[in-house]
Amino acid sequence: MKRNLIDVLCACAAIVSMALVAQPAVPRAEQPHGAAASAQDTTSTKPKPEDTEVWEPVPKVVTPGVTCTAPPSDAIVLFDGKNLDEWVSNRDKSPAKWIVADGVLTVNKAAGNIETKRTFKNYQLHLEWKIPENITGSGQARGNSGVFLASTGPGDDGYELQVLDSYNNKTYVNGQAGSIYKQGIPLANPNRKPGEWQTYDVVWTAPTFDTDGSLKTPAYVTVFFNGVLVQNHFQLKGETRYIGQPFYKMYTSAPIKLQAHGDHSEPISFRNIWVREID
Ligand code: MG
Repeated sequence: MKRNLIDVLCACAAIVSMALVAQPAVPRAEQPHGAAASAQDTTSTKPKPEDTEVWEPVPKVVTPGVTCTAPPSDAIVLFDGKNLDEWVSNRDKSPAKWIVADGVLTVNKAAGNIETKRTFKNYQLHLEWKIPENITGSGQARGNSGVFLASTGPGDDGYELQVLDSYNNKTYVNGQAGSIYKQGIPLANPNRKPGEWQTYDVVWTAPTFDTDGSLKTPAYVTVFFNGVLVQNHFQLKGETRYIGQPFYKMYTSAPIKLQAHGDHSEPISFRNIWVREID
């Protein structure tokens, strides 16, 4: 009987001992803090979530437009379909003489380029343009216009984001719609058909210059064309030029200019133009 009791006690001890061996170790992260925590865990150098939280400056509140193409609350509206109060002739700064009808602005080729009264440095720009359904011509002579992201003088002086009917119209690729004229080939061709409205959303980083006029930092541009990225922080070599190599010319703040191109195709139209200045 005594022998049997000893056997039972030994068997129980063996089971308890096996259970202790089989029990998994408590992971380090789940160990309680306090006296049992290691010396390293209690030092002041242990990273905390708060170390990487930034609370200031608080971004300003901007009320977005009803749609993503409508101007947000802090936008400067350059054309809302009503008038050309924000625009003048590039040639002589007289009132702009393009045609406003039915909420749409149509190029008047005889009147020449128009530009904003205001000047800008860095900004976000939205505008919409339409090639007429009855467009004729080919190559660069088919719905040619342009958005000069900074107008640095008369005529076509400045930095042109090309506007052209590139739906089904072959031309040199650094001169098709969405190109930075003769510098930046668009990353894709998302053109809509003539007769349909198209959108440009642009982020322009103006070049900066030293006091002696030499270039300090180049211009950069990002462009979404109908929502498709076509220029991705593209670095410009200077002003866009029809003939010859680009070069920079000092400026600090400049108008935005729309091109009245001299080709004989039917004039194109614009609408819903707004800009947000960036510090
Ligand atoms: Mg053009």
